[in-house]
Amino acid sequence: MSLRERVETAVKQKSKIVPFNDQTKELCQCADCPTHEQCEKAEIVFCSAGDSDNNDSMAQKGCQCGTCEVFQQHSLAGGYYCMEGEA
Ligand code: SF4
Ligand code: SF4
Repeated sequence: MSLRERVETAVKQKSKIVPFNDQTKELCQCADCPTHEQCEKAEIVFCSAGDSDNNDSMAQKGCQCGTCEVFQQHSLAGGYYCMEGEA
């Protein structure tokens, strides 16, 4: 990973539990979630990166986190990390 990529990852990762890396980006189910339509397209892995930039104007329309391997691997609870913030 280049220095630039490491810095970008460090900036995105707010969680002390879930890393923001290629594996979690690959496994994340957010892009298929109805609530995600209100987020910026490029935003994913909210359990690591924290809430969406659009959080102030969002409503809960369902959450896919419970079906996600990242959720299971890290024994997460709850969901709606795009609105509630990182795990
Ligand atoms: S955190 Fe949950 S509600 Fe938010 S976009 Fe991801 S799956 Fe959907
Ligand atoms: S637990 Fe939710 S926010 Fe985290 S990677 Fe999975 S789908 Fe994305």
